[in-house]
Amino acid sequence: MTRVRAVAASLAVAVLAGCLGGDPEPRGSGGSPAARGRGGAKPEQYWPARARYRLALTYDAGAHALAGTERVEFVNTSPEALRSVWLRTWANGLGSCRRPFARVEVTAGGSAGEQRAGCTALEVRLARPLPPGERAVVALRVRVAVPPRPGRFGLFGDIASFGNALPVLAVADARGWRLEPYTDRGESFFSLTAAWRVELRVPEGLEVASTGREVAAGVLEAPLARDFTLVIGPMQVHELQAGGIRLQRFTAPGEPAGEARAALRTARSALTELGRRFGPLDATELDLVEGPGRVSAFGIAMEYPDLVLSPAAAPALTHELAHQWFFGLVGNDQWREPWLDESFAEYAQASLRSGGPDRLGACGRLPRGRPPLNSDMGVFERRPPRVYTQTVYIGGACSLRELERDLGRARFDAFLRGLVAGYRHEVLTTEGFVAALREAVPERFDVDRWLRAARLD
Ligand SMILES: [Zn+2]
Repeated sequence: MTRVRAVAASLAVAVLAGCLGGDPEPRGSGGSPAARGRGGAKPEQYWPARARYRLALTYDAGAHALAGTERVEFVNTSPEALRSVWLRTWANGLGSCRRPFARVEVTAGGSAGEQRAGCTALEVRLARPLPPGERAVVALRVRVAVPPRPGRFGLFGDIASFGNALPVLAVADARGWRLEPYTDRGESFFSLTAAWRVELRVPEGLEVASTGREVAAGVLEAPLARDFTLVIGPMQVHELQAGGIRLQRFTAPGEPAGEARAALRTARSALTELGRRFGPLDATELDLVEGPGRVSAFGIAMEYPDLVLSPAAAPALTHELAHQWFFGLVGNDQWREPWLDESFAEYAQASLRSGGPDRLGACGRLPRGRPPLNSDMGVFERRPPRVYTQTVYIGGACSLRELERDLGRARFDAFLRGLVAGYRHEVLTTEGFVAALREAVPERFDVDRWLRAARLD
């Protein structure tokens, strides 16, 4: 959604005095559907989970910075007591430890510990060990300034994009904390579904695109979102209703209205097709922001919960909207298994009537020596950028299209719909995908042959 206007200080204070007690429990438990009997994969658990984030932020239009407080409440879903948790401060991925873009102070519930991964990870040592099953709260004072250059986390014109900029809980499993480094080549991000409430004050005249929707003046809520993104600045806004979803197109002042309306129509067609094939979204509002020409060193568009940065062109827009299913609803560790969202988004775009030209004409010409499809970003960072594109985007999408042809569209769509339903607000892994595939295919279908051809190790 979201068009937050200036909020009177008294209102913001009154809202701050409220209580979290009535908030819905986030459904993402950190458990995988395997634990609920999908069979195949063994149960996986992630922690801390069932988080509730509550922020009160003020936007400084001169400094292009957000500052205020962040309260993070979470449950220890691990089998052991937790002595510390880690926050991801991805804003520092584009800065440095000496010149950080995110400054975080722990004001209650614990104290700041180590920083790792180029200061994109901050340990919070809890005030006391948190037993399994119990809930704790950590309070922070935060200030995040966008870098003065265009990007998904950056400044274009006078528009500030806070992509992956607000501190979020890192994720741990039985193997430990996942504290991967920032990558500009793709995504490093991994977080569990949580409940968000953001009280935001912005100067008069600026528009706000965001995750979630505005439930009262200056109050944004997203009850089930993996992250919370804000884009703030002078923008034009056009709207279109798409079934139960209110679409908004945010563009820089002076951009042609016709292009914004065309983008909205493309998005509506894509959402209708995607919803029919993969099941409904939870979102009632989606924000489509015309971002900068480049969102990172290698990307032109970027996905966030309920928000995309994308040009109007159908291939980019539909790819990013497909991420609302594969990344948004069905989560994955984007550094360790980027194919689980990128191959699916690329396949979806190429298979939609509204998706525009696609890149799958290259399916028969992909280099044989490319890395396995389920390689991590560390592998791709050591190769030329085209290897990542050929392997994860085009190669993965080609394999999914092959599977669609082998199974037939109806059975393939039923499989994907089941995958989305089974992993809704949870975390998909390659192992979980393979287990679900084995369950979904007819007995005569050779899953191992497809896995070999897809280069899934
Ligand atoms: Zn993508």
